[in-house]
Amino acid sequence: MRLLCDEMLGRLARWLRAAGYDTALPEPGTADRALVARAVAENRTIISRDRKLAEFRAARGRLVRLPEDGLEAAVAALSAALAIDWLHRPLSRCLRCNAPLVPVTPDPAIPEGRALRRLPPPHTRCPACGKLYWAGGHRRRMLARLAAWQRAYHRPPRPALSRAGDPGGRPASSRGKSGTAALGGRAIEGGPVAANGPAWQPNVKGSVSRR
Ligand SMILES: [Zn+2]
Repeated sequence: MRLLCDEMLGRLARWLRAAGYDTALPEPGTADRALVARAVAENRTIISRDRKLAEFRAARGRLVRLPEDGLEAAVAALSAALAIDWLHRPLSRCLRCNAPLVPVTPDPAIPEGRALRRLPPPHTRCPACGKLYWAGGHRRRMLARLAAWQRAYHRPPRPALSRAGDPGGRPASSRGKSGTAALGGRAIEGGPVAANGPAWQPNVKGSVSRR
């Protein structure tokens, strides 16, 4: 399942990335028409609070309208609409730019590598922006919150919504072409998705962790 949050939902988008979902976030000021066109081109489900988006014919069947309330209400509504698995591939994507992270081995020959070796493993890097991640308290708090949302809100998808191509169903990547479809909107070369190494800490402060 590929998602596209409107620009007002940046915080929710980062949490969806934290859960492991390919979640695009348009540049500020992107016109509604361009946002819908991108969702169609990249086969993404749009998540928005903007009721005007429903007026676009191309948005029909791929739009989830969220309530006006805060993050928790958005998480509940989205879980009900799309059967979001908040422990899908936890902490496997860059929170900043959505790219799947790749494992790195710190190189003791360079200062950056020596600094990274002093931080708890495993270590991963975003191949798009270069950001490094490692384990730590921030990671534990994020995982705890994802797990709490999973317990509170996750419901298995209904059979009627599980057909390929349905916005609430199986991801398009399961229909054929190898893994590239799961790698996000931008072309990113690099290693496999770090699906089972949910272990790092973003070195940005606060953008996701605060309530
Ligand atoms: Zn990145």
